[in-house]
Amino acid sequence: MSVESRKKALRFLFGPVVDRLGYKFTPNEEDADFLLEQEALLEEKHGVPYCPCQALSKDRAENMKMVCPCIPFHRAHYDAMRRCWCGLFVHKDVTDPDALKQIPPDRFRD
Ligand code: SF4
Repeated sequence: MSVESRKKALRFLFGPVVDRLGYKFTPNEEDADFLLEQEALLEEKHGVPYCPCQALSKDRAENMKMVCPCIPFHRAHYDAMRRCWCGLFVHKDVTDPDALKQIPPDRFRD
């Protein structure tokens, strides 16, 4: 499957999953397209669509917490930012994703 087709498939698969979690794709189409492309390439390489913004380790269990959409594993942190770490997904009521700030995990208090 081409990267373009896989991007479309990932978009189709992720939409309903994140919807149930209170999220949607970022309205910034350029960012969404870029991030989905990186995920399609990571999936081609590793067999699963790992997060394009988080470094993989040698710990498989930890890496599985970085398969997109990883929101359930980082729920409190992402809810506090109203976006996921990469910004591919934002809370449903977000209209200006650029106004949202990343909070580094080590500065986030649950
Ligand atoms: S941070 Fe966002 S884009 Fe990255 S894996 Fe998690 S949900 Fe996907």
